[in-house]
Amino acid sequence: MQGGAATLAGGPDGGIVMTQLATAGIRELRTVSEGPVMAPGDPGFDQGRRVWNAGIDRTPSVIARCASAADVAAALGFAGKHGLEVSVRGGAHNPAGTAVCDDGLMVDLSLLNQVTVDPAARRARAGGGALLGDLDAATQRHGLAVPAGLISHTGVGGLTLGGGMGWLTRKYGLTIDNLTAAEVVTADGRVLLASETEHPDLFWAIRGGGGNFGVVTSFEFRLHEVDPMVQFGMFFWGLDQGAEALRLAREITAAMPPDINAVAGAVNAPPAPFVPEQHRFQPGYAMLLTGFGPGPEHAELAARIRESLPPLFELVAPLPYVELQKLLDEANAWGHYGYEKGTYLQDLSDPVIEVVTSEVPRKNSPMSVMLFYRLDGAYCRPGDDDTAFSGGRTPRYGTFIIGLAPDPDLAAADRAWVRGVWEALRPHAIGSGDGYINGVADFSEDRIRHSYGAAKYDRLAAIKAQYDPGNVFRNNANIKPAALR
Ligand SMILES: Cc1cc2nc3c(=O)[nH]c(=O)nc-3n(C[C@H](O)[C@H](O)[C@H](O)COP(=O)(O)OP(=O)(O)OC[C@H]3O[C@@H](n4cnc5c(N)ncnc54)[C@H](O)[C@@H]3O)c2cc1C
Repeated sequence: MQGGAATLAGGPDGGIVMTQLATAGIRELRTVSEGPVMAPGDPGFDQGRRVWNAGIDRTPSVIARCASAADVAAALGFAGKHGLEVSVRGGAHNPAGTAVCDDGLMVDLSLLNQVTVDPAARRARAGGGALLGDLDAATQRHGLAVPAGLISHTGVGGLTLGGGMGWLTRKYGLTIDNLTAAEVVTADGRVLLASETEHPDLFWAIRGGGGNFGVVTSFEFRLHEVDPMVQFGMFFWGLDQGAEALRLAREITAAMPPDINAVAGAVNAPPAPFVPEQHRFQPGYAMLLTGFGPGPEHAELAARIRESLPPLFELVAPLPYVELQKLLDEANAWGHYGYEKGTYLQDLSDPVIEVVTSEVPRKNSPMSVMLFYRLDGAYCRPGDDDTAFSGGRTPRYGTFIIGLAPDPDLAAADRAWVRGVWEALRPHAIGSGDGYINGVADFSEDRIRHSYGAAKYDRLAAIKAQYDPGNVFRNNANIKPAALR
C-alpha cells in the first residue's frame, strides 16, 4: 500500500491515531472492493481528483473507484467509520466541484459507465457514472434516445438528478420525466430500488433533488425514437445586431412546432472552416436551430431567419444526432476555469433584451457565454409537484450565464460579470431569480431554498431526514434533513 495516511492527520491531537486507523482501513477497504481504492501518491490519484473546472483543486484522502453497488456501500461504511466527508463523482462536470472534497472520501463512479438497451421494451439502463456520450452512443444504435443535455462529456448522474434539459426537452420532456427507476445506495449502505411503486418518496426526491438522498448506481430510462440524422442550423450576428437577433429568436421560438428546437445565445464565433476568417473568435449572437422530424419546418424556419435578419455567416446541414450532441464539447472542454449562474425568464422581452445587449459587450473571456434554452411543449406536461424539479412547468427560457476562461485572472473578471448579469436580469426573472439547481454555483441555504420554493424544499428536507438523517451527502446543493434544521 502506498501513501494515503498522511493527509488524514487532522491536527496535533489524535492525528496519528486517525492516520493509523485510516491506513489499516484503506487496506481493509481494498480487500473488499472490486474497484481500485486510491490514496495520495498512488498512480492515478492526481488524475482521479481532477474535475471539469480547473479552478477546483481539492485533495481527498481516499478515492474509491467503485465497480458495483457493494463497492459504494463499502466505501460509505469506511467513510462513516473514519468520520470522513463524502463526495460523489459522476461526470465531474459540476462547476462548483462538488465531486471532490478536501481530506474526505470520493465515491468515484466512473467505472460504472455501462449502458444497456432493450429496444423492444424501449428502456435503457445507464450506470451512475456514465457520460451523456455513452448513453447517446448506446441508444442511437437502435435509433432511440433519452432527452438529456448539450455536452457529451457531462455526467448522466448529476444532470439527471438535477433535472436534465437539452435539444429533446420540448419534444420529450426533461431527463427526469423519462426516468422510470433507479438503484440507490443510501447513507447506511442499503441498496434500494426507487420507482413509482418502490420507495416512491425517494423516487420523487431524486427527480430534481440532486445527490442528496444516496448514490445512484443505475438509472433506468424510457426511450424515444430519434432518427440518427437530424437537421441543424447555426446563424451568427455581430454584437451591434444583438437586439434584432434576440427579437428574432423570440419570434422563431414562438412559432416552433414540437419537432424543432432553438437555443439562442451570446457567444464568440468558433474558428471553424465555415466561419469567414474576419469573424473567427469575434463576439456576437447566435441561434442554433435543430429539427427532429421529416417535415419541411426546419428548412422553412431557417429561410425565415435568413430573410428576416441576414446573418454574418451560417451553417445549415443534416447532422448525425450523436454529432449534434458533441457539437459544443470542444468549446466546453475540461481544464478551463468555470463559474455559472442561472435563472428562468418568462420571455425574451424588450427589457430583457436591453439588459442582455448592454451586459454582453462587458464580458472578458471569449469563452464566456449566455444561453437561452426554450422550455415549453413536453416540458410543461408534468405538474409542478410531480417531481422535485427546481422550476415551475410553465413555458420559459432556462437561462445559463457561464463564465469560462483559460486562466484564473480572466476567470475572476468573468465571475464578477456573471454575477452582474444575473443581478441585472433578476427583476425580469420568474420568482426569486434562483433558477435550475444544476445551474447554481453558490450553495447557500437561502439560494437553494429559493430554487425549489419553500414547500418543495420542506418536502425534500423531510425525505432527506428519512434517507440521510446524518446529512452524509452534503457536498452538493445541500438540502438539510428536516430534523437538523
Ligand atoms: C459545460 C457544461 C454544460 C452543461 N450543459 C447542461 C445541459 O445542457 N443541460 C443540463 O441540464 N445541464 C447542463 N449542465 C449542468 C450539469 O447538469 C451539472 O453540472 C451536473 O451536476 C453535472 O453532472 P456530473 O455528473 O457531470 O457532475 P459531478 O460533478 O460528478 O456531479 C455533481 C453532483 O451530482 C451528484 N451526483 C452525480 N452523479 C451521481 C450519482 N450517480 N449518484 C448520486 N449523486 C450523484 C453529486 O452530488 C455530485 O457532487 C452543464 C454543465 C456544464 C459545466
